[in-house]
Amino acid sequence: MKRIHKLRTMHYAPITILVLGSWFLGFGLCGCQSHQFYVNSRIMMGTIIEVTSVHKEAAGVVFGELERLENLLSKYKPESEVSQLNKKAKLKVSPETFFIVKKAKEFSTLSSGAFDITVGPLVDLWGFTDKNFTVPADEKIKNILKLIGSDKILLHNNESVIKFKFPGMKIDLGAIAKGYAVDCAVKKLKEKGINSCLINAGGQVYCLGEKFGRPWRVAIKGVLNSDFSGFVELTDKSVATSGDYEQFFIQDNKRYAHIINPKTGYPADSGVISVTVIAPDGLTADALSTAIFVLGKERGEKLAEKFKGVEVKIYAQDNL
Ligand code: FAD
Ligand code: MG
Repeated sequence: MKRIHKLRTMHYAPITILVLGSWFLGFGLCGCQSHQFYVNSRIMMGTIIEVTSVHKEAAGVVFGELERLENLLSKYKPESEVSQLNKKAKLKVSPETFFIVKKAKEFSTLSSGAFDITVGPLVDLWGFTDKNFTVPADEKIKNILKLIGSDKILLHNNESVIKFKFPGMKIDLGAIAKGYAVDCAVKKLKEKGINSCLINAGGQVYCLGEKFGRPWRVAIKGVLNSDFSGFVELTDKSVATSGDYEQFFIQDNKRYAHIINPKTGYPADSGVISVTVIAPDGLTADALSTAIFVLGKERGEKLAEKFKGVEVKIYAQDNL
């Protein structure tokens, strides 16, 4: 009998990383007269995007860029390039979509397949896309595994064409596109001469420049309760967290979370509860946190060593 005891998704729910000094959501001006900054938030990409800056126009720049990329990269938008590619299995795409898929393939190779955007059909099967959660039959999972593997994504560099080796394949950029979008927004801010801003895209954070001459302080939420497990001070860096406590359901006393092990087709079961990655750019922080979550503590730390300027904090079941 199918019994789902508890459902929890991050849809518009709390964020794992909070920014100290910007503790309220919504539109507003924050701080005393000499230290005023604007905090704006909007729901995009299925989460809350919060922008904090002394520059009034910063939020508009960030939201504009994120909206542009959401229209290109979201599998939830039928007209996006990603949805069209998933439908047609072959598509001439924009340089940006081509770039992000190429980067995703590189992360797949580096992580020995732990990170893999071809998990799309598995994410759908488990109900994490439409939030209609279910534990699929083993046979169904096995069948779908034939469609999984980034080596089955063929890139034709000259024409910017992406082709799937098998019909039915689907890519899901949920573990990499928010990071990339935040990087693009930062680039746009810099072009406009804005050099101090904090973007929090549902726990995917970028700290641009400083906040009144000091690094931005970003609090990392604890994994077991609502307390903070500490904070980091960052300048021109991104921080991202992947955890099993954000989107999950419990059926028959077993917990199933949204990060899938592409090798087994089941939710990752490496003993890791949460991974926080600090990196020079958002894309790396985003993709790496998911890859490490699948790989587990030891193999994950080894993977992180391959990246320059990256720091990792892993909470595993045995080190809480
Ligand atoms: P991360 O660890 O960064 O990513 C986990 C996600 O990546 C999973 O949810 C899955 O989608 C995928 N994934 C699972 N396993 C793997 C793996 N082994 N390798 C690679 N990828 C994997 N959600 C909505 O509900 N509605 C929306 O309209 C919506 N729009 C979106 C638009 C965009 C452009 C993006 C990027 C995401 C959107 N989302 C939407 C998804 C939502 O915000 C996700 O919850 C989010 O992307 C997951 O991010 P995370 O940081 O929590 O986890
Ligand atoms: Mg991520």
